[in-house]
Amino acid sequence: MRIDTKCIQSGYTPKNGEARILPIYQSTTFKYESTEQMGRLFDLEEDGYFYTRLANPTNDAVAAKIADLEGGVAGMLTASGQSACFYSIFNICEAGDHFVCSTSIYGGTYNLFSVTMKKLGIDVTFVDPDASAEEIAAAFKPNTKALFGETIANPALVVLDIEKFAKVAHDHGVPLIVDNTFATPINCRPIEWGADIVVHSTTKYMDGHATSVGGAIVDSGNFDWEAHSDKFPGLTTPDESYHGVVYTERFGKAAYITKATATLMRDLGSIPSPHNSFLLNLGLETLALRMRKHCDNAQKVAEYLKSSDKVSWVSYSGLEGDKYHDLAKKYLPNGSCGVISFGVKGGRENAVKFMDSLKLAAIVTHVADARTSVLHPASHTHRQMNDEELKAAGVTPDLIRFSVGIEDADDIIEDIENALNVSAE
Ligand SMILES: *Cc1c(COP(=O)(O)O)cnc(C)c1O
Repeated sequence: MRIDTKCIQSGYTPKNGEARILPIYQSTTFKYESTEQMGRLFDLEEDGYFYTRLANPTNDAVAAKIADLEGGVAGMLTASGQSACFYSIFNICEAGDHFVCSTSIYGGTYNLFSVTMKKLGIDVTFVDPDASAEEIAAAFKPNTKALFGETIANPALVVLDIEKFAKVAHDHGVPLIVDNTFATPINCRPIEWGADIVVHSTTKYMDGHATSVGGAIVDSGNFDWEAHSDKFPGLTTPDESYHGVVYTERFGKAAYITKATATLMRDLGSIPSPHNSFLLNLGLETLALRMRKHCDNAQKVAEYLKSSDKVSWVSYSGLEGDKYHDLAKKYLPNGSCGVISFGVKGGRENAVKFMDSLKLAAIVTHVADARTSVLHPASHTHRQMNDEELKAAGVTPDLIRFSVGIEDADDIIEDIENALNVSAE
C-alpha cells in the first residue's frame, strides 16, 4: 500500500460482521475462561489482552498504523510525546549509562534529558547537529547507548542529516533514535535513512486537531542488539521480572518494543486512553491530505515574510537559500512541515506587539494544528533556558514560531500583514 492508503487502511481490518470503524475498547480488563490461559498471557507465552495498562485493542490498532506508516515492524502508543521520548531512551539506558543528543530539540525533551534523566543517573552529551561526523563521534564514551535527534527540530527548524547521524551511531554499535514529530511519515521516514527507533508526539500533526496529547514509539526491527550484547543486557540476557525471558531470543525483531511494553508500560504506566487513540486515528486518516496543505500554505507564508521589510529573518527549509534547503531537498522532497520561524524587526519588544496584534492566528502553547497558531519560545516553551542555552538550541530572543494551519493562505497572510503594520507603528 502507498502512504495515503496506509493512512486510511492500516492497523484495523474488520472481519465479517464487525464494526467498520475502529471500535473504542473502553475497558480496563478482558475476560478469560480459564486461569491457565490467563497465566500464559502473563508469561508472555500467548498473545492476548488482559489489562489495558499493558495493551488495549484500540491502542494497538493505532500503534500498528503508525508503525506501518513509518515502515517499522512494531509500535506502541504512549500518553504523551514526552513519555515516548523518555521510554525510547530508558528502555536501553540505566544508571551509569550515557547517550548523545542533538542540541536542537524540543524544549521539553531538553529538560527531560538534561535535568530529570540526570537525576536517574543517565548522562547526556549534546552535540551540534551540523557538526562533522568526527566531532559528533568525539562525544561518544564506552558507556554510550544511543544517539538522539529530531528530523526537523522544534522550534529551530534544523533539518537533521539522518544518514550522518545513523553512520556515527552504528560505527559505535548503538541505535539512532529520531523524533519525527514535525515531518511526520508523510514527508520523511527516518527508518529508510538508517534510523533504528522513531518517536512521535502524536499531539501535533498526527492528531492534527488539538484534541489529544499522545506519543508513539516505532521499532524498525533493524538494530542487531545481539551483535552488541555487552551494551544491551536488558534485551539480550534473562529478565528476572519476566520469568527469565530473553527479549531478543523470544521476540526477535520486536524485542525492543516488547520490552518497552512488558516492563516500562507495566511499571510506569503512561498509556493513552482508548478514546484518545480513537481520535488520533481519525486524525491519521487525513494526515497525508493535511500535510500537503500545511506545506503549500507555509511555503506561501514564508515567501511573503521573506519579501516583507518588517521582518529581519525567516527560517523555512522550503525557501531557496535557506541554510537547510539542500538537506530538506534530500530528506523532505515533498515538503517539510507547516512551521516557520522568523524575527520581527525591533527585536523582542516588537515580536510581542506583533503577536498581540494577530487576529486569526492564536497564541497557544501548541503547534502543528489545523488552526494557525503562534508562540514566542523565549517567553513560553523555552523560558527555563538561559541565553547561552537558547543560542545552542537555535532559539533567538526575537524568534517567533508560526504554525501555519490549513485555512486559506491569503487570510493567513492578511492577518500577518495587519499585525506587522501595527507592530511597526
Ligand atoms: C511536542 C513535542 C514533544 C513532546 O510531546 P507532548 O505530546 O507534548 O508530550 C516531543 N518532541 C517534539 C518534537 C515535540 O514537538
